Amino acid sequence: MKRWNGWGEEATQKALSSESMALLSGLTGNPHEGQVILSKEEALKRAGEKVFSGWEGVDSSAEARLSHARGQSFADWLALRQGHGLRFPEGVVYPKDEGEIRKHLEGARRGGARIVVYGGGTSVVGHINRPAGEKPVVIMDMQRMGRLLSVDRTSQMARFEAGVRGPDIEAQLSPHGMIMGHFPQSYEYATLGGWVATRSSGQQSLYYGRIEDLFAGGRLITAEGEMELPPLPASSAGMDLRQVWMGSEGLMGVISEATMRVRALPEVESFHGVFFPRWEQAEEFAREVVQSRVPVSMIRLSSGKETFVTLALAGKPTQIRWLERYLSWRGVREEKCLVIVGLTGKAAQVKQTRAMVGRLASAQGGVWIGQSLGRAWKKNRFHGPYLRNTLWDHGWGVDTLETAMPYAQVRAAVAKIEAALEEAAAAFGEKILVYTHLSHFYITGCAIYTTYLFRLQRTPEETFAMWKAMKSKASEAILSLRGTISHQHGVGKDHAAYLGAEKSAMGMEWMRSMVEKADPEGLFANGNLFPAVESVL
Ligand SMILES: Cc1cc2nc3c(=O)[nH]c(=O)nc-3n(C[C@H](O)[C@H](O)[C@H](O)COP(=O)(O)OP(=O)(O)OC[C@H]3O[C@@H](n4cnc5c(N)ncnc54)[C@H](O)[C@@H]3O)c2cc1C
Repeated sequence: MKRWNGWGEEATQKALSSESMALLSGLTGNPHEGQVILSKEEALKRAGEKVFSGWEGVDSSAEARLSHARGQSFADWLALRQGHGLRFPEGVVYPKDEGEIRKHLEGARRGGARIVVYGGGTSVVGHINRPAGEKPVVIMDMQRMGRLLSVDRTSQMARFEAGVRGPDIEAQLSPHGMIMGHFPQSYEYATLGGWVATRSSGQQSLYYGRIEDLFAGGRLITAEGEMELPPLPASSAGMDLRQVWMGSEGLMGVISEATMRVRALPEVESFHGVFFPRWEQAEEFAREVVQSRVPVSMIRLSSGKETFVTLALAGKPTQIRWLERYLSWRGVREEKCLVIVGLTGKAAQVKQTRAMVGRLASAQGGVWIGQSLGRAWKKNRFHGPYLRNTLWDHGWGVDTLETAMPYAQVRAAVAKIEAALEEAAAAFGEKILVYTHLSHFYITGCAIYTTYLFRLQRTPEETFAMWKAMKSKASEAILSLRGTISHQHGVGKDHAAYLGAEKSAMGMEWMRSMVEKADPEGLFANGNLFPAVESVL
């Protein structure tokens, strides 16, 4: 069964050894005892307090309202685990086809309700949370629309209903010998519609592309009518409206179908570990690979601190000791940075790529250690978030934030973002653990992904205040460096206040008028993108 107040299936547990806990306590202090715990019974009682009659097909049970109340942001966890700011939608609908989508939109219009479209509920920026206001809010959960509708092997395209989840995409494509290859860390639960609506990016985007590269066309059901965009290979016919749907975050209507660019299953795939003596060399290597157009499928570059934490929490002290001895003998010591390189494709091409990447790594003092760490990364690629459950149970909160910016700014940005988080926590008398990796390398720059781990405070209110201060200070640091407020998580409600800095006042007005044109009555007014009172920051 899926956890109601955390990540993933209840049966999947990720243990934290006593050595790991001692390490974290050493870095942050011992966790505070006696945390507030909201039981499921109490949460259901709260959800059951308001009854909404709705229209035919609306489920207003406490169970449905609780399970669709929040996404996966830190503030969402604080709401679900400790009751902080927990609010519920009035009901949930589960359309099985476009006919039912239309029926529910009509029901909402007549009932004066708002619709929040819900994919997998994996948003980390408040996308699907109940917007403020008096109007009843009904969640439209797309989970029953998960079918593969057609495959065109010749043109390498596949048409799906938009509620399809990551694993079901690949399971339905694989009998055709095809793969889409979009693997965000939330892959197990996130949906195609959610990826398109939030401009998502997968771990192997260097090979398979971001969602913008994969999304060829589709169908959108708006409050005013329907729009279909044909899946053309390219077009110079006016503006590209796919780009408007992408990032629309549920404000313009329901994406009911999407035609995706897919490809033949790769002949081979492997992930390799390379250690560099220092961050500068690792960064130089990654940039060189990408700017030389060497066709790797992934580069993930951990900072010295992230490398330290990864090895320390790996739970294999003997192997790690041997590895460190070997690295030290090769001149890679305290400041070492781990880079995971993915190679994917036809066997002959991968062989050639491996040789080219090997040469570039050696030129920067990199030590190639084979596939053991790469295999471990692949095995756990979707399991990292499960640790969040365990950490919380032991009194630690963890959150991540991300941006992208040109290479010339990256090093300074990492230092500034980490310092902003540490300083904000220090104002609360707290020491936190902060580390960063770079991923999603482009020709001109890359994504910066920072993790921060901290003690839950004595009360939910104090925890929220500290988290909010850290997130706000780090967001301001990102903006001061002219980075994007989001490379992959989107805007939702939590980043809305920062969007204007990237789009300009005029850009915000253009976007607002497009949304108003698609939805003049505000049927889909979910509070995303445009700054409003409901942002938690
Ligand atoms: C542990 C974890 C790891 C993550 N890793 C990544 C990552 O590696 N890369 C990445 O890109 N993101 C990542 N995310 C963020 C999140 O998974 C993405 O934002 C994802 O695209 C959301 O998809 P979803 O189906 O869950 O959408 P939801 O969270 O349900 O909704 C997100 C938004 O999309 C809209 N929407 C959903 N479906 C439709 C539809 N059919 N039509 C119109 N609008 C729709 C909703 O209204 C909402 O505004 C991660 C999240 C978590 C919790």
